[in-house]
Amino acid sequence: MTQEIGGFAALGLHPNILAALTAVGYEEPSPIQAQAIPVILAGQDMIGQAQTGTGKTAAFALPLLSKIDPAKREPQALILAPTRELALQVATAFETYSKQMPGLNVVAVYGGAPMGPQLKAIRQGAQVIVATPGRLVDHLRRDEKVLSTIQYLVLDEADEMLKLGFMDDLEVIFQAMPESRQSVLFSATLPHSIRAIAEKHLRNPQHIKIASKTQTVTAIEQAHLMVHADQKHAAVLRLLEVEEFDALIAFVRTKQATLDLASALEAKGYKAAALNGDIAQNQRERVIESLKDGRLDIVVATDVAARGLDVPRITHVMNVDMPYDPESYVHRIGRTGRAGRTGRALLLVTPRERRMLQVIERVTGQKVGEVKLPNGQQVLDARIKKLTTSLAPLVADAEASHGELLDRLTADIGCSPRALAAALLRKATNGQALTLAEVEREQPLVPNGAPRERSERSERGDSRERRAPMPLGEGRARCRTALGARDGIAAKNLLGAILNEGGLAREAIGRIQVRESFSLVELPEDGLERLLSKLKDTRVGGKPLKLRRYRED
Ligand code: AMP
Repeated sequence: MTQEIGGFAALGLHPNILAALTAVGYEEPSPIQAQAIPVILAGQDMIGQAQTGTGKTAAFALPLLSKIDPAKREPQALILAPTRELALQVATAFETYSKQMPGLNVVAVYGGAPMGPQLKAIRQGAQVIVATPGRLVDHLRRDEKVLSTIQYLVLDEADEMLKLGFMDDLEVIFQAMPESRQSVLFSATLPHSIRAIAEKHLRNPQHIKIASKTQTVTAIEQAHLMVHADQKHAAVLRLLEVEEFDALIAFVRTKQATLDLASALEAKGYKAAALNGDIAQNQRERVIESLKDGRLDIVVATDVAARGLDVPRITHVMNVDMPYDPESYVHRIGRTGRAGRTGRALLLVTPRERRMLQVIERVTGQKVGEVKLPNGQQVLDARIKKLTTSLAPLVADAEASHGELLDRLTADIGCSPRALAAALLRKATNGQALTLAEVEREQPLVPNGAPRERSERSERGDSRERRAPMPLGEGRARCRTALGARDGIAAKNLLGAILNEGGLAREAIGRIQVRESFSLVELPEDGLERLLSKLKDTRVGGKPLKLRRYRED
């Protein structure tokens, strides 16, 4: 629906940025984007109160990219982020949104990696620097002029930066930039210390906050599940095994995500379809009709596409991607629990989105309890229950109609009725895993609350810059690519490309972690440089892999 990209176009963004947004499949600005983009484009200082999940990165990246002059090869925008991981995510977001801006370069500056290449990238004219404060101050010590051309400053997650003790570093950085710059500060909370910074270093800032009216939710059972972004599909598939739903609507953020999830569900035998802003009106009506009359059981939709969708059969709403604000959450889950029936709403929360969950709970005045990912036994029990339910009604008159046939077949084959019944079951269940061992083999998944998640959290608190999420295997080096789940990449695509083009044995490749906007791959330290140069021109899913060593502290 071009009208929705129109939602972005009406904000005054550069046409190249709009083209990039069409490519990533965003349909409309999130509330914080709709408010912040015009203010930043107009050159005003701003304080944005928003947490991860609201779309805040694009809220500053899109207008800044619209203002930056790619022909000028000098640092123009500086984004400060509390952790290395966030700095990398923000840098990747800038790269994604600037795909149609030739000559635009982004450099991520963070501790634990050598300073030389970072400084070189700055000197070669990267227009956008995304940095953690500690490392940036190290650069300033070497070259006090590094920030002298900055026109735009963003403090991202300012409250987190102060919590991690970056106050003094921030002061040093402020002093090293021209006073005429435009400054934008994003923070989930606005304690006194943040207000003091704003008072001292921002000029007449506009304050932007998403108004949250208290919302009431009735007759809907709500639950959330903690999950990593790269495991969302697997988690959805498992949840669907145990949830007893009639019809279900799954909400995601982008057009591509509707297509990806709908096809993953279809591949597992669900009657599922995608609904997004690109789908023509008559096709959309067909999908809704099919959901109403049971030809479809699952619709995967964006918020825009689901507008006005009212199907009484919907028993479940699954928020696969976080809604941008509590209002949208309440709106989404209101699709179920119609006509006095109770509905069930499930919310997938990635570790970084925890805060958003708290905001939803505060605004709705309700606790959204946690569910754990169903384990293998629960999946197996649910499968057997379904089988029982489908077979039980057939038993009553089957003996009368097929009993004689059974006798003849057992005699002809020379087997017991039990053996024949087992063979028929195998045929009827179509190779479905129906023992615990098989189920567990079929669905290897990091259980919730697994070490990965805990390590991310604890590292954030106790070190100034977050380390990589998992301990590295011996003799291995961790490498990073800017391709991630949002590029439609799965671990098997990376594995395939590296095996084929790198000529490695399968055992040589360690863990592969696919995150939303990047991926990490463990490779043998021995011969790494040679391997990376072999993979120099490799493309995955049509995009350059550009695998680089990812340095630990
Ligand atoms: P953030 O709150 O900046 O961490 O963004 C959260 C996620 O929302 C990121 O994965 C973005 O790619 C995605 N996102 C941001 N803005 C939009 C939008 N207007 N439409 C769809 N997805 C978006």
